[in-house]
Amino acid sequence: MPILFGQIVHRYIEQAINDYLQTGKAPTVEELIQLGRGQLNAAFIDSTRRLDFWRQKPNKYYMMQEIYYHGTLSPELVQDYKERLRLVFNHFLMSETFQQITSQKGSLRIGEPEQFRSMKVEDVQVFVVMDFHYYDELRDKWIIVDWKTGGESDDDRQQLALYAYYVQQKYRVSLAQIEVYNEYLLTGKRKKYSFTDIDMENILYTFQRSVLEMKKYQADIFSNEPVDIEDFEQTQEKWHCRGCNFRELCASR
Ligand code: SF4
Repeated sequence: MPILFGQIVHRYIEQAINDYLQTGKAPTVEELIQLGRGQLNAAFIDSTRRLDFWRQKPNKYYMMQEIYYHGTLSPELVQDYKERLRLVFNHFLMSETFQQITSQKGSLRIGEPEQFRSMKVEDVQVFVVMDFHYYDELRDKWIIVDWKTGGESDDDRQQLALYAYYVQQKYRVSLAQIEVYNEYLLTGKRKKYSFTDIDMENILYTFQRSVLEMKKYQADIFSNEPVDIEDFEQTQEKWHCRGCNFRELCASR
């Protein structure tokens, strides 16, 4: 549910921004809620009534993990997410980012729209899935915005450092010209981050370490063949398992 909710909210925020840039018209909060609710309902119907379709075409149908494993959604959870829809779309429309888009439309250059931006870091292709970035001509600044539909996490800064690195490399700009924000849509809080060269060195170091860690699980580096499933140790931190896509497979080991 949290992942599905995040995907739906991100989709309609992206659509709202694109529509605004093309037509000059912003959606109302009720319109956004209705769209979001429609998608949540569609996901519920797929998950409860279209199991066979989903098995045949899993990328065309929704399957909510809560329903797959427990058969239903608790009424408290449904109520909670209904309330969240209103909160996040309200906060989006009132957010400083959206206010800037609507008040400064002419002086903003919106970043390229392709879904899969990537860069090479030491021969490894790294995909960067940024929510939104733009260039503010008046201030000569590149702005990166990440919408968050969940709570704050220690990883948020690291994720944004990678985005800053991408923008720095792609547009050949200095870190001083890059401003990075998290917009926490549940609370309406906006958090600003600044990065230094040391942050960039740290992110590259973390990246190299995690690539090495992942390569331990390659039996053949040319065919990208993995080692045996038994060699993937199970986590001791069981909270990871709640949202894991491999839960069923893992339990049958
Ligand atoms: S369920 Fe997922 S997170 Fe948990 S041990 Fe298995 S693979 Fe790891």
